[in-house]
Amino acid sequence: MSYDPASVRAKYLAERDKRLVPGRADIRDLGHDERFKRYREDPFRPRAERAPVTDEVDALIVGGGIAGVLAGANLRQAGVERIRIVDLAGGIGGTWYWNQYPGVMCDVESYMYIPMLEEFGYIPTRRYASGEEIRRHLERIGERYDLVSGALWHTGVVRGEWDDEATRWRIHTDRGDEIVCRWYVLAVGILNLLKLPVIPGMEDFAGKSFHSSRWDYRYTGGGPDAPLTGLAGKSVALIGTGATGIQCVPPLAAAAEHLYVFQRTPSAVGVRGNRPTDPGFGAALEAGWQKARMDNFQAIMLGRSVDTDLVDDGWTRHYGPVHHPPRHEGMSVADYIRAGEELDFSIMEEHRRRVEEVVTDPAKAAILKPYYRYLCKRPCFHDEYLEAFNKPNVTLIDCPAGVERVTPRGPVAGGREYPVDCIIYGTGFEPELTPLYRRAGHEIVGRGGVTLAEKWAPGAASLFGMMIRGFPNLFVMPAPGQQAVVTVNYTQLAVLGGEFIGHTVGLLLKNQVAAFDVSAEAEEAWTQKIVDSFVDGSAVMAACTPSRINLEGHPELLNPRNGNYGRGLGDWFAYRQRLEDWLADGRLEGLELKVLEPRPGGS
Ligand SMILES: Cc1cc2nc3c(=O)[nH]c(=O)nc-3n(C[C@H](O)[C@H](O)[C@H](O)COP(=O)(O)OP(=O)(O)OC[C@H]3O[C@@H](n4cnc5c(N)ncnc54)[C@H](O)[C@@H]3O)c2cc1C
Repeated sequence: MSYDPASVRAKYLAERDKRLVPGRADIRDLGHDERFKRYREDPFRPRAERAPVTDEVDALIVGGGIAGVLAGANLRQAGVERIRIVDLAGGIGGTWYWNQYPGVMCDVESYMYIPMLEEFGYIPTRRYASGEEIRRHLERIGERYDLVSGALWHTGVVRGEWDDEATRWRIHTDRGDEIVCRWYVLAVGILNLLKLPVIPGMEDFAGKSFHSSRWDYRYTGGGPDAPLTGLAGKSVALIGTGATGIQCVPPLAAAAEHLYVFQRTPSAVGVRGNRPTDPGFGAALEAGWQKARMDNFQAIMLGRSVDTDLVDDGWTRHYGPVHHPPRHEGMSVADYIRAGEELDFSIMEEHRRRVEEVVTDPAKAAILKPYYRYLCKRPCFHDEYLEAFNKPNVTLIDCPAGVERVTPRGPVAGGREYPVDCIIYGTGFEPELTPLYRRAGHEIVGRGGVTLAEKWAPGAASLFGMMIRGFPNLFVMPAPGQQAVVTVNYTQLAVLGGEFIGHTVGLLLKNQVAAFDVSAEAEEAWTQKIVDSFVDGSAVMAACTPSRINLEGHPELLNPRNGNYGRGLGDWFAYRQRLEDWLADGRLEGLELKVLEPRPGGS
């Protein structure tokens, strides 16, 4: 395809329109529909019976993923003694506990993604580490900072309620626990709510079915890195070809007698270049290397010039430049926009050529080529995904409008039924822009009985995206859509959030503060900054094929109050500086403080 802007735009719009079908974004209510509750159950570790816990801790953290573990480690460093993590999962890991599907690995470089590498003197074994390696490292952090012994696993928080008189939170769980705490930290995740589409007849399927984030190895055999021996002689349907789908296609193709891959929209799948870590890598690193590497990467994501691209992968070569195309002196806005579009086109052409070069069957190749702008979806990278379609036991089913229905025998697409033994839903997660009060999965009740859902009904309001007026002593780990910033490498933001919470609690303890609340002025000022820097990108995003990035075809629904600090995805460097200055100043500006006589034990 040559670059003719009008015909490229027309082609992209036609591809979008094929996918804009009513009801496409409808998702199952897994919380209340009894028929689908099993999709959320933990297949990895048995749930041990235990008596309800009624006690008091200093800090209660909801979520034991990267964010929860980093918050815990920093609170420990700040001198907080009794820390309790509560998680629905059966152990530490969050995303990396739940997502144990075959082939799972991080999609940004592990030397940046796995936190606290320097502190632990640990170097990941591969450039893009497996989920298991990530989880093991998070477990090590949990052990070192003593976050495991007091944790409550397989436990869902159902309600957190502020008690003004006691200046404490009362936390209730689905196991009858009632825990009182002083500091309440929400580290509930950004992609923590698994998503099942509403496909008629799903509940009538007679074979095995599960979601990719609850992989059932008792059925498939094998493990995240071991062959799926239980699938010999079985036919399998995989629904979904996003970030998860592309990682599990190669192991499924290697094991199943037949694999049917149902694709609504092809992902742009770039070269991964995964490899074992160079034995000399660790020895060449200097103190402060991990932070410097994260900063170098993030600078490129924000279009800043750097001397060396330390990571040098598809993110830095494609994603960064597409979001911040080079702007030459004297360039008009129109020329700049056009140059950006052309750059985007050339990158997508590269991806389409890669499909042609790798996939031998032209019919399959045609279906696998992505036709939309690179900035429309979080890009994928893989070295074996496209090759898998050259295997004779892999059938690709093009269904832009989605799977039509499921019969007792299997999925139906294009009017044809595909009988299978097993259906795997690789259908992803509710978007990270899902409001915090929904992602948190429980009611958060602040001063005067006001819930967070009520307070945030018109949109977010906060100080720094981490503290909220009316919800004293509550910290929220920063996340997209929540008045902080977006980082492609989420860990960079979680590290900052954890450090901020730890240092802030350190200051509060030093000043013998029993409770803090955000002042009305500080919250208004921060929220106004977020609204003022909001850039309405809905015209560009509306032309995308629907996905979670463009709110399933409705980018106009983005609320400016749920935006970021700085234009677009936010200015990471300015945001970090703002937090560092606030901490260095030490006056806890913008907080209303209730100072009490210190109690014994620091609680
Ligand atoms: C498969 C997959 C791969 C990813 N790869 C990358 C990557 O390479 N790079 C990147 O930057 N990002 C990646 N992400 C995004 C990823 O979610 C974040 O990087 C990070 O792991 C999020 O950590 P977290 O601690 O904030 O949330 P999570 O890891 O989601 O942990 C939150 C935890 O809170 C628990 N929880 C929530 N509500 C409650 C409640 N009411 N009661 C009890 N427990 C509760 C959940 O069970 C969960 O375990 C990926 C996401 C997925 C799904």
